[in-house]
Amino acid sequence: MDDNNVSRFTCSKCGGHELIVSRVWSIQAGTDSETWKEWGRLKNDHYWQFEFKEKIEANADEEVRRGDFGEFQEDDSITEPEEYETHEPETDRESDEFFVNCGDCDREIEFGWSQADRRGLILPVEFSDFDPLQSWPDPKYVDSWEQRGWLRAGHRQR
Ligand SMILES: [Zn+2]
Repeated sequence: MDDNNVSRFTCSKCGGHELIVSRVWSIQAGTDSETWKEWGRLKNDHYWQFEFKEKIEANADEEVRRGDFGEFQEDDSITEPEEYETHEPETDRESDEFFVNCGDCDREIEFGWSQADRRGLILPVEFSDFDPLQSWPDPKYVDSWEQRGWLRAGHRQR
């Protein structure tokens, strides 16, 4: 890997050079749905590896109000991010959401993909080598890319 190269990203707000890629997805667990997040550093060469994973307690308030959290004490074991290994980014689940944030100030960074349907490499807009003509926007950003005239024919995904 080319980690020794000058970073292609410099945050315009905090000057940081690190980008974090995260994937958020929901699973059905009995009658409740759980939301999970995994994340890891995006490298200069556009590859990334998810290094951490945790459950997002989006419904915590609701559970406290219902007062039925006693049986779920074992979930405390996953309040700390757990290190785990994965090698192939999974990008084929339509309900998954991907985010790129500055690793220092957490600012959201727009990004595209090197291939359609959220496949290939992640191409952050603020990377110094970013080229909209070589990128497919993440679905979140299609409208703003269109306003900027960044969409080429066929870019708008169904
Ligand atoms: Zn920043």
